[in-house]
Amino acid sequence: MTQDNYAWSPNPVYSLPVRGSEQRLPVKRIFCVGRNYHAHAIEMNRPVDKATMRPFYFIKDASTLVESGATVPYPTGTANYHFEMELVVVVGKPGFRVAEENAGELIYGYAAGLDMTRRDLQLVAREQGRPWDLGKNFEKSAICTEVVPVGDLGVLDKGAINLQVNGETKQSSDLSKLIWDLREIIADLSTFYHLEPGDLIYSGTPEGVGAVKPGDVITGHVDGVGDIALTVGAAE
Ligand code: MN
Repeated sequence: MTQDNYAWSPNPVYSLPVRGSEQRLPVKRIFCVGRNYHAHAIEMNRPVDKATMRPFYFIKDASTLVESGATVPYPTGTANYHFEMELVVVVGKPGFRVAEENAGELIYGYAAGLDMTRRDLQLVAREQGRPWDLGKNFEKSAICTEVVPVGDLGVLDKGAINLQVNGETKQSSDLSKLIWDLREIIADLSTFYHLEPGDLIYSGTPEGVGAVKPGDVITGHVDGVGDIALTVGAAE
């Protein structure tokens, strides 16, 4: 099939740079874990009891991906545009019903990510039992750094994760505080989906989420993975 076979240009391949490589990593799906740090679940008034609850997920379209360093316009439809700093797991091998002890084999690498959120729309949807798409799955809402190949990092189970707005720290936690760790998330998610190379998993945000406004500069860091930056532009 050539482009002449399509009524208009097919979707581009959404992709991320890979540290130390000329090749870019094509992105397939963007899975996001909800409420995966206790202190964040509590600040959202939805505490988590791991003994009786399972993780849950939502999805952002690959077209929402934006590379770190960008300026994105303040999004339409919201007056409460929030940051969520997250570790991103990059899947590099197919996996279905993966055992926890084998979950690490699926990890191609890691990135730092921002799960940008129209919090007002998300909370309206939550209270009314409606889907979260308007709050979560909107244009330019999935910010991501270059991918760091797993190398000697192994399955990350500790390390600082933090975020600043205009240089002031807003989020500061540690990957060891994940409610469901990376092995558990990969194993659980793979019972619902056939995981494939290029799937991203945003693993959840710690406490301290908050609103930003045009002109704000967001920076963030995950130990061993890297630094992320995003500037909030004027509303369209
Ligand atoms: Mn999130």
